[in-house]
Amino acid sequence: MAERIDGKAFAATLRAKVGEHAAQFAAQAGRPAGLAVVLVGEDPASQVYVRSKHKATVEAGMASFEHRLPADTDEATLLALVAQLNADPAVDGILVQLPLPAGIDEQAVIAAISPDKDVDGFHVINAGRLSVGQPGFVPCTPLGCLMLLKDRLGDLSGLEAVVIGRSNIVGKPMAQLLTDANATVTIAHSRTRDLPAVVRRADIVVAAVGRPEMITGDWIKPGACVIDVGINRVSAPDSDKSRLVGDVEFDSAEKVAGSITPVPGGVGPMTIAVLLRNALVAAYRNQGLDVPAGL
Ligand code: NAD
Repeated sequence: MAERIDGKAFAATLRAKVGEHAAQFAAQAGRPAGLAVVLVGEDPASQVYVRSKHKATVEAGMASFEHRLPADTDEATLLALVAQLNADPAVDGILVQLPLPAGIDEQAVIAAISPDKDVDGFHVINAGRLSVGQPGFVPCTPLGCLMLLKDRLGDLSGLEAVVIGRSNIVGKPMAQLLTDANATVTIAHSRTRDLPAVVRRADIVVAAVGRPEMITGDWIKPGACVIDVGINRVSAPDSDKSRLVGDVEFDSAEKVAGSITPVPGGVGPMTIAVLLRNALVAAYRNQGLDVPAGL
């Protein structure tokens, strides 16, 4: 039976560490680190995310600047707000909550964020920095997955890793991080032939597909470490209630894997904790101070 990787507990520890450093930063800089979150429109899931990001930022002792704009905001207005936040010395990190309403070009908005305040790591400059190994910002979810993997497995050198999904925000940066950690990485995606056979090779499986319970226990190599990024809401049988499931069929995978993240309570809590970490790193850099080791 696999050991469950407790992302919630790991994230709580990381948030506490960020909180301690945030206090030191405020004392050194004479101001708190600041994170601005921009929400356009009323998407219910985005509202929940933005509320939890605000709460977590304040709990970590950082300043939270929330900007809520109506759904009919035009691109020029949003770009003007981004420019204002880029220029504001109290703002170290800027996060524009995606998805944006139709009619606004997401890529143009991401490109307008200063790469040095792009704590989501979505700007092409930060994707490039990750690709060539320069310091920048790495997207929060895959960085959180890497932290869980290193905590569980230690040195990843030489391990076979299969990342299922090739999105810019999860799959691609995850593969890059694993390569940098000296794993042997395969990126699988919707056109991969015989996906179960590819996954069966893996010592590390990272599932970021967005298809409920697609990866079953018989795909998993005995003892593998399984990181399930998927968050899928499905309706429960014989009930009008819904529940969250991952991309991995937990019950069958748990019987074969060496360790596995549950959904919820695995990767999900890591994303906000890493966002706070990235925002604090941005603050140190923007202030011209050394980023503390281990942050
Ligand atoms: P996406 O839709 O952008 O990408 C999905 C990827 O899966 C694509 O690259 C596609 O090639 C691949 N894919 C689709 N069908 C496939 C199939 N049948 N076989 C193999 N590969 C297939 O999604 P995303 O933004 O990368 O997110 C993936 C999942 O992770 C979603 O469930 C999302 O909700 C979740 N997610 C969770 C967090 C978190 O904080 N835990 C953060 C981001 C995304």
